[in-house]
Amino acid sequence: MKRKNATLSFVQLKSLCSAPNGPMHAAAGEKEHPGPNKYCDFCRMQTWLSLPTDTDFSIFNLPYGIFVAADGQPRAGMAIGDHLVDLAAAADEGLFGKRRFFRKLFEQPVLNDFIALGKPVASRIRRKVQNWLCLPQAPGNAGRILRERSAVRMLLPIHIGDYTDFYSSIEHATNVGKMFRPDNPLLPNWRWIPVGYHGRSSSIVPDGTPIRRPHGQVLPKGQETPVFSACKQLDFELEMAFIIGKNSALGEPIPIERAEEYIFGMVLFNDWSARDIQRWEYVPLGPFLGKNFGSSISPWIVPLEALKPFRVKGPKQNPPPLDYLRAAGARNYDIRLEVAIQPENAAETIVCRSNTRYLYWSMAQQLAHHTINGCNVRVGDLMASGTISGSQPGSFGSLLELSWGGQKPVPLANGATRTFLEDGDTVCIRGWAQKDGQRVGFGAVSGKILPA
Ligand code: MN
Repeated sequence: MKRKNATLSFVQLKSLCSAPNGPMHAAAGEKEHPGPNKYCDFCRMQTWLSLPTDTDFSIFNLPYGIFVAADGQPRAGMAIGDHLVDLAAAADEGLFGKRRFFRKLFEQPVLNDFIALGKPVASRIRRKVQNWLCLPQAPGNAGRILRERSAVRMLLPIHIGDYTDFYSSIEHATNVGKMFRPDNPLLPNWRWIPVGYHGRSSSIVPDGTPIRRPHGQVLPKGQETPVFSACKQLDFELEMAFIIGKNSALGEPIPIERAEEYIFGMVLFNDWSARDIQRWEYVPLGPFLGKNFGSSISPWIVPLEALKPFRVKGPKQNPPPLDYLRAAGARNYDIRLEVAIQPENAAETIVCRSNTRYLYWSMAQQLAHHTINGCNVRVGDLMASGTISGSQPGSFGSLLELSWGGQKPVPLANGATRTFLEDGDTVCIRGWAQKDGQRVGFGAVSGKILPA
């Protein structure tokens, strides 16, 4: 967003700020700015960097990622508009104090050690960057700290220790149940337990990584003997995931009221799925080779604190969950989601529009349940939501549901249709929260299907 009030004086601008206590602005020799998301017109307009209209990476967002610039060295960055703040360079410029300590921390190829320092440290770093971006004019060191995002490559932001995938959308669970088990769509445990399974972290890949169509055992319709074949029902799953920001001890459950202390931030997640392989293998122990050939995550971790203004109530839970899954207050987040399919050399079509707020089970409930038996979590663990479907057909978060098991082909803009993904298709998931002129987005996660 370009500043609208560039002609107003500093004092006039200051008077526009609606944050409680006014803009405590470092540049004016005052105490620190109230920080991201303490709504502040003054700073929003006063960012000396010009941001594209409706950028996901507004001054309220400031998500973390790992990038590689021309020198080939991975480093930590923070996205702002079309740029990123090179955090190692910012540390070198003295933005955070303890120059050497922070430079070394941000020169690491993953964010785990930084995240492990705890949320107060991460908050302070974000506030320092925001203050720097809100100085009355571009500081002399801007050229050394800012980089164009188009000139860098993004990597996985964290080393993922353990990965769990939940199944927390009641619409998705019911839709899949209707197709796989027409007599018994929603199993009796579903409304009591945030159902999930332990997935595989080694095959989680960053945005832009191509996905090769897997081979496996499938049972042809009406037959009793499986064949070995390339997957013919390759699918995406629209999901979000959260990243653990704090270790818990083995044997000590995380109480639901404290669950969000353990959640550092969120990313977009595509749980690529081979439906024909999945259908044959999933009984009795659940997902295996139909899932573990690849999952993709978006490169920027949006910290939970940037998402606070977008908290909303979740769907009514009936029956009421057991005590350890109950907490007061809004438990969900209003994050708009969309999925586009782009065939080779053709324009994309948005095939699904959904929202994280539809999820029946919240992240806090997932984490409380995950640890209620004493299972521990560690910094960098990743927990995905499960496919996020809404109640309307256009909001279903997988082709399995959109094409209703292959019976209703999904039309694309180029005149073609899809029941499942074809070679050369690129699937792109986008997500963003937006309210009162604040936009906090996740960017995108995409992947192209390569032939088997
Ligand atoms: Mn999934």
